[in-house]
Amino acid sequence: MPNYDFVCPSCIKHFEVFISYADYDNHRVLCPFCGSYDTVRRISRVRIGHSEESRIDSLLDLEQLTRLENDPQALGQMMRNMSHDIGEDLGPEFDEVVDRLEKGQNPEEIERELPNLTDPGLNPKDIGI
Ligand SMILES: [Zn+2]
Repeated sequence: MPNYDFVCPSCIKHFEVFISYADYDNHRVLCPFCGSYDTVRRISRVRIGHSEESRIDSLLDLEQLTRLENDPQALGQMMRNMSHDIGEDLGPEFDEVVDRLEKGQNPEEIERELPNLTDPGLNPKDIGI
């Protein structure tokens, strides 16, 4: 039995209804909150599920980033993987930063010691770290 998301414009509440495909066309869905029949099926169910997933993803990312902040070697590794994924040579400065990170140097220190890092892409902070 399919499970539909409905929204009631009268009371601005969302609810789920289980109705069969056969019943769907002439089925008027009663709002369980205010009793209105003026309900609208939300067709964005998949997108909603998606955004819930990406919220979880971004939480995981945040956790990962927090961990990386305290782990320059993992950060360097991640940046190296990222540059592989991009498939572009990001320049000698990038390699320098990654090398230093992988040796365990922290990003602030690297920034101080390499003041000529003008390309924003080379700054670990600019990739959200
Ligand atoms: Zn309602």
